[in-house]
Amino acid sequence: MIDIQNVSKWYGNFQVLTDCSTSIKKGEVVVVCGPSGSGKSTLIKTVNALEPIQQGDIRVDGQSITAAGTNLPRLRSRVGMVFQNFELFPHLSVTENLTLAQIKVLGRPKDEAMQRGLKMLDRVGLLAHKDKFPGQLSGGQQQRVAIARALSMDPIAMLFDEPTSALDPEMVGEVLDVMVQLAHEGMTMMCVTHEMGFAKKVSHRVIFMDAGRIVEDCSKDDFFGHPEARSLRAKDFLSKIL
Ligand code: ATP
Ligand code: MG
Repeated sequence: MIDIQNVSKWYGNFQVLTDCSTSIKKGEVVVVCGPSGSGKSTLIKTVNALEPIQQGDIRVDGQSITAAGTNLPRLRSRVGMVFQNFELFPHLSVTENLTLAQIKVLGRPKDEAMQRGLKMLDRVGLLAHKDKFPGQLSGGQQQRVAIARALSMDPIAMLFDEPTSALDPEMVGEVLDVMVQLAHEGMTMMCVTHEMGFAKKVSHRVIFMDAGRIVEDCSKDDFFGHPEARSLRAKDFLSKIL
């Protein structure tokens, strides 16, 4: 579903990603972790071409993101992305946030977009808040709206970049619950998160990054169950967070 092949990326002279390769199958939930600055956000953003790559290739559902002629807006609409800071449009109501891209990018009629948006809003438990503006919602609620907005586009996979790290602790659970539910429904997910409870509970695989490289790419059971077999950097990381 998502094939990352020998990807390298530079910011000017600084190499931020070095020869990263991994493949995420349909229905697989992969957690990406690692120290700050190791390139997790950069890697996940390359998947829907929010960050260009200089070497290697990425295929989403068989389609290369670097090939000439690839319709990037269309491709991006198929891979939902949820960021740390929600990134809702503050001047638009919840329903407008939910329908805008469906109408503009997918060309859906307004009624259909509204129906789909409200269905997803209901799914994250926020139907009663449909007419509010983002500023009138808690951080956890805003993040659930952001997830509903991404789901409204009928994505084939979802990317999450530390979706709970900007939240007050009491709101982390409500967002994780939605993610757990999505995982159980078989959504293909690539999640940058330090929520190791989530990783242990629902992920299939864990990728550990260090200094722009994928240092570990193994099953959840190997990652958490066999620390002795892990790299020094991963061991160090695990010892700090577990
Ligand atoms: P964190 O856990 O803090 O979110 P991360 O693993 O997501 O870290 P990235 O945000 O991918 O790390 O950044 C990787 C490296 O690239 C860091 O050294 C960062 O300073 C650098 N970097 C990120 N964005 C840019 C940019 N636009 N220009 C130059 N360097 C950048
Ligand atoms: Mg990051």
